[in-house]
Amino acid sequence: MNSKIPEDLIERVYQGKSTKEDGLLLLEVPPFELFRFADELRSLTAGDTVTYVVNRNINFTSRCVGTCGFCAFRTNNGKVLTLEEIMEKVREAAQANATEVCIQGGLLPDAGIDFYLGIVEAIKAEFPDMHIHSFSPMEVYHASRVSGISVKEALLQLKKSGLDTMPGTAAEILSDRVREIICPSKIKTSEWIEVVTQAHAAGIPTTATMMYGHVETLEERIEHILIVREIQKETGGITEFVPLPFMPYNNPVGEKLMREGRYATPGLEDLKNYAVSRILLHGYVDNIQASWVKLGKKLAQFALHCGVNDLGGTLMEESISRSAGASNGEAISVEELEWMIYGAGRVPKERTTLYGRVNELISGNPRRSGFRVSE
Ligand code: SF4
Repeated sequence: MNSKIPEDLIERVYQGKSTKEDGLLLLEVPPFELFRFADELRSLTAGDTVTYVVNRNINFTSRCVGTCGFCAFRTNNGKVLTLEEIMEKVREAAQANATEVCIQGGLLPDAGIDFYLGIVEAIKAEFPDMHIHSFSPMEVYHASRVSGISVKEALLQLKKSGLDTMPGTAAEILSDRVREIICPSKIKTSEWIEVVTQAHAAGIPTTATMMYGHVETLEERIEHILIVREIQKETGGITEFVPLPFMPYNNPVGEKLMREGRYATPGLEDLKNYAVSRILLHGYVDNIQASWVKLGKKLAQFALHCGVNDLGGTLMEESISRSAGASNGEAISVEELEWMIYGAGRVPKERTTLYGRVNELISGNPRRSGFRVSE
């Protein structure tokens, strides 16, 4: 066990030149030393402000032709929301002063690019200022294949219709060895990188995620973070990095692990993961986000001292983590989120999807509090 972080490693981090070996070594450092270093970098990069976005998740269907073994969300015959039903949810979001809608769904066999364009166009026609943060790299890839067009063409059409940004989901662990085990029919590592870099080239920034804590090795985890760093070096299009602990319930991958005596990641491991992400991405990705849905509110609050500077969205509804065993609720009010942030000794600030300042008229509106949709 290392008793302290070597000086030369610290120097490499400040120069943006940390290595895979550095990442692995950091995972062995006593946790609070690691957290202190990550917190120092968070302070340098983001100051004491902790941001969040008022948004709404909309999952238009759980029906999916995918076969991801970690997924507890997919169904063979789940309902597909009509465009009008999606719009009704967007209207509710707008009423609650959401600045962003995050729309994702299962892969429908016949959903080509027109299906996705139709959603974007309908929202922009009624709410031109609503930020549309939607469709995973897997969905874009799927739409392009169904329509027989290139990924680049699909992205250009989405951009033209009004798609603002994309969630960098479907990344799981960017290792084909891991993907072959947990999601063999999903896009491969190189395809995920291709969709994301093409999105950036088309003027669509993305987030980047990492779902960890299943069959990957620590080395593969670190390699994933370094792949994200390489993409960012090339394009600068990544707005935030979001490590997401794997939820082992109600899905074959998790059930197999639990039969072997391996349950959800320990909270300490989650916190170390946030800290290492902050450290390895220093100088490249400024925002490290913790998911209160996956971590729970108290651990997410503690993560603010381990390199995290953003708590994501208020969500209003959430079904993907809930189906895999998350029990932390599916909506949080602005007041409670701000309470959590103040409680961690930080200063809350509502942001736009692109980390801009939210118009005072919106953020000062008392109507926005405590919104919850009953399903
Ligand atoms: S993770 Fe997405 S693509 Fe995979 S099975 Fe679930 S809904 Fe389908």
